[in-house]
Amino acid sequence: MSDKLKYDVVVVGAGPAGLSAAIILAKAGVKVIVIERGKFPGAKNVMGGVFYTDCMKGIVDEFPGKAPVERHIIEQRMWILDEKSSVGFNHKNDRFNEEPYNCHTVFRARFDKWLADEAEKAGALIINNTVVREAILEDGKVVGVKTDRPQGDVYANAVIVADGVNSLLAKSLGMRQNIQKDAVAVAVKEVIGLDEKVINDRFNVKANEGVTIEMTGNFFNGEAMAFLYTNQKSVSLGVGMVIADLVKNKLNPNELIESLKKHPSVAPLIEGGETKEFLVHLIPEGGFHAVPKVAGNGVMLAGDAAMLVDSIHREGSNLAITSGKFAAETYLEAAKKGDFSEKTLSLYAEKLKDSFVLEDLKKYKGLPDMLQKNERLLKKYPKVLNDAAFELLNVNGVSKKDKEKLIWKNMKQEIGLGNMVKDMLKIWRNVI
Ligand SMILES: Cc1cc2nc3c(=O)[nH]c(=O)nc-3n(C[C@H](O)[C@H](O)[C@H](O)COP(=O)(O)OP(=O)(O)OC[C@H]3O[C@@H](n4cnc5c(N)ncnc54)[C@H](O)[C@@H]3O)c2cc1C
Repeated sequence: MSDKLKYDVVVVGAGPAGLSAAIILAKAGVKVIVIERGKFPGAKNVMGGVFYTDCMKGIVDEFPGKAPVERHIIEQRMWILDEKSSVGFNHKNDRFNEEPYNCHTVFRARFDKWLADEAEKAGALIINNTVVREAILEDGKVVGVKTDRPQGDVYANAVIVADGVNSLLAKSLGMRQNIQKDAVAVAVKEVIGLDEKVINDRFNVKANEGVTIEMTGNFFNGEAMAFLYTNQKSVSLGVGMVIADLVKNKLNPNELIESLKKHPSVAPLIEGGETKEFLVHLIPEGGFHAVPKVAGNGVMLAGDAAMLVDSIHREGSNLAITSGKFAAETYLEAAKKGDFSEKTLSLYAEKLKDSFVLEDLKKYKGLPDMLQKNERLLKKYPKVLNDAAFELLNVNGVSKKDKEKLIWKNMKQEIGLGNMVKDMLKIWRNVI
């Protein structure tokens, strides 16, 4: 017993979920080890890049301080694309220019590394280049992990599983199913280098100010979601599609992004740019119903491992950080009792349930199903909307009254009055 390597807590995965848990625990004097398979934290981690900073309260209070952030976001654009056009809603607000800014773009390779430094400063031990193979169980309770290092078993009172969307550990513990093709998207991202001044001019922003664009609509059969985010000297362009739809449409991720780059609303924004990085990663998009049991005997799942992503608002990293924080706080409560059973650790599930994390996912719980079962919403409406905008804004000698009649006729032909009413009700129930 005495020669066992023992910590209070083992955290598996040095992404935002694992590192935020480690910081809270280490600050409270808990002996915590973070085991990361990458060469360094963030080495292989991917996200579009929008980081909402509110979740950093209690973790690194003076954010951004020296954190490696790119631009703070002052304008958010939402576009519905048709093949050659887009209809958009833009929100630019000078209140987003007030410090401390609440939203930045970041690069994960630099951000995670910085967060890991903060964890080390707080007293956590981070071991890189080490893969956790499986959990060690005693009497049905998780008491540690086996790694791929010789004599690499590490014991602990509790294990926080924060190994991302594919969480092999959660699956091996029976807490997660294999990846469901309709609950996980494959996303590709390119970082496209552009001159800083070109970005400022093209997006109508000053130095350090940034813009985000979310895109959906009638491209790739209406089943993809895309984004374009501004960094200091590059833009991040990406697109994702649920695996089941990729298979159905016989598309590969490379085709998705190549086609997006040619869209007439996107091409001028990346013109002259040079691809610096190409990344592919999975995103959990199953929403509320895909969230598994998050606490067991001696174990808690955090971040993507627990499928905590709000894809409607492209929030994942902040949910990961918040869940990591809750898992750490739960451990601290359990340590006071000296009891790390599922019953005590289920406080973690309560914390998630009482917070925006599960409240938001619950609010949109019917949405993935609604979108998958109603092709009209993703295919017909974007076209009808774009055609209506064109008709209304194209001055061609036809009176506005006749144009309105034409638009209405087109809507009735393409969608049908009854379907429109049904769809509005569905949207009302599932989104608003
Ligand atoms: C293309 C794309 C765009 C996105 N855009 C955004 C966005 O703009 N904003 C946003 O907030 N979210 C976004 N997300 C979601 C966000 O990236 C995730 O929700 C977030 O990274 C989850 O953090 P995590 O710590 O749970 O997991 P991860 O960041 O995946 O970290 C898991 C860590 O565990 C390590 N690991 C895995 N297995 C093992 C093992 N067996 N042993 C040891 N270590 C292991 C990995 O190397 C990794 O470091 C996006 C995701 C993708 C893919």
